[in-house]
Amino acid sequence: MSEDRIAAGNRSINILQLYPREMNIYGDWGNVLVLKQRLKWNGYTANVLEYNVGDDFPADVDLLVGGGGQDSGQVVIQEDLQSLAPTLRALAEDDVPMLAICGLYQLFGRFFKTHTGTVIPGIGLLDLETHGGTERLIGNVLSVSEEFGEIHGYENHSGQTFLGPGVKPLAEVRKGEGNNSKDNYEGARYRNVVASYLHGSLLPKNPAIADFLIQQAVTRKFGSFEPAPPSPGDLDELARLSELARQHAGQRPR
Ligand code: GLN
Repeated sequence: MSEDRIAAGNRSINILQLYPREMNIYGDWGNVLVLKQRLKWNGYTANVLEYNVGDDFPADVDLLVGGGGQDSGQVVIQEDLQSLAPTLRALAEDDVPMLAICGLYQLFGRFFKTHTGTVIPGIGLLDLETHGGTERLIGNVLSVSEEFGEIHGYENHSGQTFLGPGVKPLAEVRKGEGNNSKDNYEGARYRNVVASYLHGSLLPKNPAIADFLIQQAVTRKFGSFEPAPPSPGDLDELARLSELARQHAGQRPR
């Protein structure tokens, strides 16, 4: 490891996971583990923080991650989430990278109206709205994004999300449903926010998204980011394993 890398190793990125108690299903915690490990391989330290209902919001957040949850979990966090809305919107406008999966993806939008008619307000960070359907959209998804290539994952949601003009879709669906059963889009992109319905978890099979989030976080904090050279070692091995996982996921039935 070069001296530069060792110096960079003292540098720390604060990753905040939002509501891990209620919003963390189908292995979403794996997203945080991938970010932590890939930061380490690139010579940075990850400091993982958790925010749950009633906690003080930490002052120095470099990367924010939120997972999915049952409708009931979304109801539990809704009031607290509203209290964070101005802070989270300001962080997004300040280009803090964020990953929002499924349940929190929905609540980063304007609202989620569940299939029983309960309206759970969102924080309006993303220009989109979600309407609960009677049918659940379940199964493996393959989508394609100009930015990140093929994106593989697993969806399980009743909410059908429709994007407004203020966001772009993350990807176009090739297999599965994605945001809804009407248009062909999966997820949403806005500034450095990546939002997606895909669990699995998402980042182990889609390291291009992890590296995007890391690059944005490190550049924003330290002014520049040089990826670790992919010489023999951890990064090569990870590339091999994640490619195997992608191939395997691509062959799974819907
Ligand atoms: N409860 C939401 C829905 O069913 C989100 C589900 C999830 O996060 N997997 O649409």
